[in-house]
Amino acid sequence: MKYTTSRPRKIMIVGAGQAGLQLALALQRRGDDVTVVSNRSAQDIRSGRVMSSQCMFDASLQLERALGLNLWDETCPPVEGIALAIPNPGEPAAKLLDWGHRLDHPAQSVDQRMKIPAWMALFEERGGTVLWMEAGTPELERWAVEYELVIVAAGKGDISGLFERDAEKSPFTAPQRALALTYVHGMAPRPEYSAVSFNLIPGVGEYFVFPALTHTGPCDIMVFEGVPGGPMDCWADVQSPQEHLAKSKWILETFLPWEARRCDAVRLTDDNGRLVGRFAPTVRHPVGRLPSGTPVLGMGDVVCLNDPITGQGANNASKCAHAYYEAIVAQGDAPFDAEFMQRAFDDFWAYAEHVVNWTNALLQPPPAHVLEVLGAAGSAPSVAKRFVNGFNDPRDYVNFFMSPGKASEYLARELAPA
Ligand SMILES: Cc1cc2nc3c(=O)[nH]c(=O)nc-3n(C[C@H](O)[C@H](O)[C@H](O)COP(=O)(O)OP(=O)(O)OC[C@H]3O[C@@H](n4cnc5c(N)ncnc54)[C@H](O)[C@@H]3O)c2cc1C
Repeated sequence: MKYTTSRPRKIMIVGAGQAGLQLALALQRRGDDVTVVSNRSAQDIRSGRVMSSQCMFDASLQLERALGLNLWDETCPPVEGIALAIPNPGEPAAKLLDWGHRLDHPAQSVDQRMKIPAWMALFEERGGTVLWMEAGTPELERWAVEYELVIVAAGKGDISGLFERDAEKSPFTAPQRALALTYVHGMAPRPEYSAVSFNLIPGVGEYFVFPALTHTGPCDIMVFEGVPGGPMDCWADVQSPQEHLAKSKWILETFLPWEARRCDAVRLTDDNGRLVGRFAPTVRHPVGRLPSGTPVLGMGDVVCLNDPITGQGANNASKCAHAYYEAIVAQGDAPFDAEFMQRAFDDFWAYAEHVVNWTNALLQPPPAHVLEVLGAAGSAPSVAKRFVNGFNDPRDYVNFFMSPGKASEYLARELAPA
């Protein structure tokens, strides 16, 4: 049933990231009374370390466009396709697999150091209130009385501990990759069209790179995903920006010479254009209970933290914001109780479970049917097209990629002589 509301709803959102701000701006547009809490000022974010590679695909970009949040469509270089390369284990300078395909609609990556402060300013210009503080349990208890709904969109912040890990949906208890980001200017472009160049080095890890927009203009973002304990898990001793760039280049020269060749003239975009870290992919129960027993609702990375290997976290945060917006609208004047919270998450999960299952599958050594689909994409453009466009809507992978049965049925159909 669709409800309508006779009055603005009073909603508190803790955390001003992709999820929190997108939802805040959507609710604000509908006339709700929304407050956002951020533990970092716009200036801290702007002048701090990069946080993500934040490549967003068309469906998420459309959600932003519908809200007028697409402030960089003219200036951000498009990501027009996705390419895959796997080095030949016997001859690492050669490729075992090498193909690419255009996306139906381009993707985009705007440095969150630009995007988040700009969205904060927009929210305030449109009359919203931002509280600049670290929210803890006592504040949540207070807001749970003062507001009709408290949403926690605090990413990997400690406060996510309020939400219990969902062991059934979280197969890993430890980080699956050692992560690093390197933002650079001066990389040689791919011929033909721009793309996420995804390189899979069996047993070692993954490297992908794509164009983006940062403070200092168009750049490329290098993302390193090293298997823990392997040769790409190599950042522990790296201290200075120069050492970080040198280590990035060393990885490419050692494992991916064709990518190293694009990097002869690269320099860091700025001293903070780098990041190193690791975390365990985790799904959490969406209803957190404060000590008083009052429920609060988790959103974005708080409830669904994915490894960046498939570049889905910010896309997922955007989808979560949209799903919660729809759930809030559908609630009309009814109270935002725990049942509402669980339902809002379940609607999001109907989408997100596909993202989580696919992302977790790619963290494992590729089984035969995965290699068969990826291999077939090298000679069958229709297979490549379907695979690359799955990044925009990962629900499709269950139909042709996630299980040996579906994969072989699909390939038999797709590769059958006309
Ligand atoms: C290396 C790396 C590469 C990535 N690449 C991609 C990619 O290419 N594509 C993609 O889609 N996703 C990518 N992601 C994931 C993506 O960045 C996140 O999933 C997304 O930003 C999550 O949005 P969010 O709003 O849930 O959380 P966040 O963006 O983390 O925002 C949470 C905010 O809450 C604030 N906060 C925390 N605690 C508190 C508190 N107690 N009180 C007040 N404020 C608080 C934080 O400071 C932060 O500003 C990547 C992530 C990493 C680490």
